[in-house]
Amino acid sequence: MVLAMPLLFAACPKDDLPPRPRASASTGSRPVIPPSPTVIAAFNGERAMDHVRKQIDFGPRPPDTQQLAKTRAYITNELKSYGLTVSLDEFNAATPQGEKKMANIVADIPGETKSLILITSHYDTKFYKDMYFVGANDPAASVATLLEIGRVLGTSKEKPKATYRLVFFDGEEAFCEGWSDCGDGENPDNTYGSRHYVSQLREKNEIADTKAMILLDMMGYKNLELGRDPMSTKWLQDIIWQTGRELGYGKIFVNREEGVGGDDHEPFLGAGVASVDLIQLSSYPHWHKADDTADKISAQSMKIVGETVLASLPKIAERVAKEPQKSTKGAEGTERE
Ligand SMILES: [Zn+2]
Repeated sequence: MVLAMPLLFAACPKDDLPPRPRASASTGSRPVIPPSPTVIAAFNGERAMDHVRKQIDFGPRPPDTQQLAKTRAYITNELKSYGLTVSLDEFNAATPQGEKKMANIVADIPGETKSLILITSHYDTKFYKDMYFVGANDPAASVATLLEIGRVLGTSKEKPKATYRLVFFDGEEAFCEGWSDCGDGENPDNTYGSRHYVSQLREKNEIADTKAMILLDMMGYKNLELGRDPMSTKWLQDIIWQTGRELGYGKIFVNREEGVGGDDHEPFLGAGVASVDLIQLSSYPHWHKADDTADKISAQSMKIVGETVLASLPKIAERVAKEPQKSTKGAEGTERE
């Protein structure tokens, strides 16, 4: 992920104890919060682990490469196999390495209303000239978790209140070494896909319907601990952290602050969309290193995040259903804060 200055965190507490395996995660062995216990428990960590390995097998996956094209085909085919309709949001991006072809991948789980709740991850890996960087946690694990969430939602018989939309962003990573070494405030060298996607939402007049955005980014570490990103929208973060605690994951969803330099939720926040980033940056020692490999990831960590997101979705849908309608005009003009 993102941060320009990892040294900032050199003094941070190191990894906590590994998450405890919880037998309770399997179906029906303990009460899980309503309304969809079976849906929540259906999340399969081993399937997610397979998705991690498949992505790593493709090799390093920067934008506009054969390897990312293969990854895109893999994600698309998986989503289709869950009964979802998939569309590509294709565009060209001007980068410090010249023009690059990029494509976000989008799939909807239609609900009773057109209120949109986005669940997202980037799927590109950071470009390195001299490093074989496969990004197991950044981003293979979040892509894997999002795919498994898609399978659970896509194959569920329950029609959700709000429409859930999965978005896999291209071009999150900076092409230059640091997050903001290149580009400028208006055309940053990062978050190409999410910025383009927000522009598409504006164009299609869908910003007002976009009620919440959940971003998964680096949440598969075997020593998982998620602090609170201060940029994220508080009520949305509170629902997820509270739900995590209710499911017995209080040691994972902790209250310490998790500093994030910027991420794919930023353009959404700038457009007035409530957004939250689930990220473990400061205590992930393999970030942007050659050893960000599959052995750092656990099926259990992905299951914890997957279950928590699945259990949070109906609560988020309920909360946004009570919001007063935003005027389309308000949605147009909002600038980044
Ligand atoms: Zn990264």
